[in-house]
Amino acid sequence: MAYESPLTTLNDGKHIPQLGFGVFKVPNDETAAAVKAAIETGYRHIDTAAVYGNEEGVRQGIDAAGVDPKDLFITTKLWNANQGYDETMRAFDESMGKLGLDVLDLYLIHWACPSFGLYNDTWKAFIELQKQGRITSIGVSNFPAENLEDLIETSGVTPVLNQIELHPYFNQAELRVTNTKYGVATEAWGPLGQGGDVLSDPALEAIAKAHDASIAQVILAWHRQLGTIAIPKSVTPSRIAENWESLGLTLSGEEIEKINALSRADGRGGPDPATADFK
Ligand code: NAD
Repeated sequence: MAYESPLTTLNDGKHIPQLGFGVFKVPNDETAAAVKAAIETGYRHIDTAAVYGNEEGVRQGIDAAGVDPKDLFITTKLWNANQGYDETMRAFDESMGKLGLDVLDLYLIHWACPSFGLYNDTWKAFIELQKQGRITSIGVSNFPAENLEDLIETSGVTPVLNQIELHPYFNQAELRVTNTKYGVATEAWGPLGQGGDVLSDPALEAIAKAHDASIAQVILAWHRQLGTIAIPKSVTPSRIAENWESLGLTLSGEEIEKINALSRADGRGGPDPATADFK
């Protein structure tokens, strides 16, 4: 059965497919094949970043699939080393050259890097690029509540979404509430726990068995029913399809509660955005 992703309405009135496709750690020369497979499966939302080094591969995959980029939702991200107004302008042009696009659907500040003291200047450049019509929607990634609030108060412009680490072992209940309070959608990176232990969790396995589904599909159905946007990554066509078919799976309220209960204080797998300062 052919599925279509539900759309999430952003605070600027635009729509983003709730299930997208991520390409973190996919080498540039393998990215085209993965993106082509994803598009042929039905995905219409691709998540890349300047630092992944595969924006060119993303474009090649789009062309290989024979789809007009205008019919896709494409996100890329401004790398930490390029924060600041002028650097953002330059880095944006570079990304757009690699992606071969005139207009980008969504640009994100990749990490807040609070210790740099630059995210407010960076955001000014985002606002300017949006005014110039070069970006449709602007957002952030890895922004703790405190920095999200500061950005909104300083600029008066609310990001459309905050892309954060989020999976059953680290479900970000608090930050989701903050995002929602400001009308900021929550997008999950590492939605499958980056391929870690969560994919063999016994509680998830029991739920998967009951639905004759895979654990990955259960997790992705949980994301969808929670209302988060998820961008699972795989380079394996059968898994790309398996993840897409999670759109046909609906969990009960009781099952959702069981998955919510798996979150733990030490469940974070990646860096803490409050202190992250790498370039
Ligand atoms: P993920 O949670 O999507 O996990 C990906 C891994 O899970 C794969 O490499 C594979 O090992 C495994 N996997 C995928 N499908 C599977 C299946 N059906 N069955 C079994 N195993 C499966 O992790 P991710 O790639 O880190 O995150 C998704 C996307 O989020 C990235 O590709 C990237 O676009 C984005 N991301 C953003 C940030 C950020 O700082 N903003 C950080 C990390 C990732």
